[in-house]
Amino acid sequence: MSSNMDDLHTELRVLQSHVDSLMGCIKQNETKLHRFQLLETNLLTLNSLYELIEHVLDDTQTVFDLDFVSFCIIDEKNEIRDFLEEEGLRVDKTPGLVLINQSQPLEKQFGKVGRHFLGDYDKKRCALFFPAVEKEVPASVAIMPLIRRGKYLGALSLGSLDKQRFSMQMATDFLKRLSDILSVCLENTLNFEMLKRTSFVDPLTGINNRRFFDQRIGEEIDRAARSDDPLSCLFLDIDHFKKVNDQQGHQAGDCVLVESAAEIKNQLRNNDILARYGGEEFVVLLSNASNSKAVEVAERIRAAVEAQVFECTPEQKLKVTISIGVSTYNPASQSKTLSITPAELIQLADQGLYAAKEAGRNQVSNQGEHLGNKALKKA
Ligand code: GH3
Ligand code: MG
Ligand code: MG
Repeated sequence: MSSNMDDLHTELRVLQSHVDSLMGCIKQNETKLHRFQLLETNLLTLNSLYELIEHVLDDTQTVFDLDFVSFCIIDEKNEIRDFLEEEGLRVDKTPGLVLINQSQPLEKQFGKVGRHFLGDYDKKRCALFFPAVEKEVPASVAIMPLIRRGKYLGALSLGSLDKQRFSMQMATDFLKRLSDILSVCLENTLNFEMLKRTSFVDPLTGINNRRFFDQRIGEEIDRAARSDDPLSCLFLDIDHFKKVNDQQGHQAGDCVLVESAAEIKNQLRNNDILARYGGEEFVVLLSNASNSKAVEVAERIRAAVEAQVFECTPEQKLKVTISIGVSTYNPASQSKTLSITPAELIQLADQGLYAAKEAGRNQVSNQGEHLGNKALKKA
């Protein structure tokens, strides 16, 4: 009897310890699930690519307690690199971030369907995904392709010094879900960034477009009024541009537009605003520039365009000239009650341009300072 009781006690203890270990497992999984859900929620609230990258690299490592995380993004035209660097992220100095120019290495690795890879680190297969780990390589890795609508966007790679951590037999629900969510987030953020970027940029010349200019000119006038600094506007138009198209072809015309935009930009300071206003017309805002300074800049641009030889093809060397109108808003020389609208400042510069064309082109016509609305009404 007593031996039966002992057996029962032993069995009970064994059962208890099983239950304890199961409870431990459940608790651990619960914490894991909770942390994972937090990671997911955070991912879904991010709205810039910069934030997404930081979040993926830092939080995934913490949440999954990993030794290595890398985030590979396909950047076919180096656009992603450009806008990340514009926002202040030094791409080559960000460990774990890998930008590659083509999807082919991923297709080779994961096939058309995008099967993830779990298992031991092997240099040939994994070096692309863990480029900065020459000294210490992971023992096991999980590399998950990020795909949307059948198109490779990149890959998320996790690495551990523990050889048992990732193996092909492992359940991968968590990882699959993470890569699915990350794919959606990456696609959305990339689209959003592109839209943000392209909607203010003229696709042909790469300088800002009219939409950008129209938004900025109001802000610049307000700023000038507050600080009492002058603001000048140039309206530029390439002379006889139609002839370039008609005689040399539309492509040569495009080339002249691109090169002239670059030359005008060359003559400006970094904080001046240049935009393509339409066809072969450009506008410039020179902040904190007096009327005489603006005329000087306009003359410099005119001379630079006149001197430029446009080599659209080795056989096709072209020359063009440009006409420029200048106007200035000078709050310091006006009574505070006088104001000016963006349209008025542009219109005055445009009148200058018209005068420059009338007078024979390839010249600068200065319309001086805008007198302000009240003064104009009195006149
Ligand atoms: P003016 O000296 O009086 O300014 O004469 P113009 O020939 O420069 O002016 P006009 O307005 O008659 O012609 C402008 C031409 O610019 C007509 C249009 O086809 C061309 N154009 C507008 N946008 C583009 C473009 O993106 N690419 C090319 N190649 N041509 C363009
Ligand atoms: Mg023209
Ligand atoms: Mg024109």
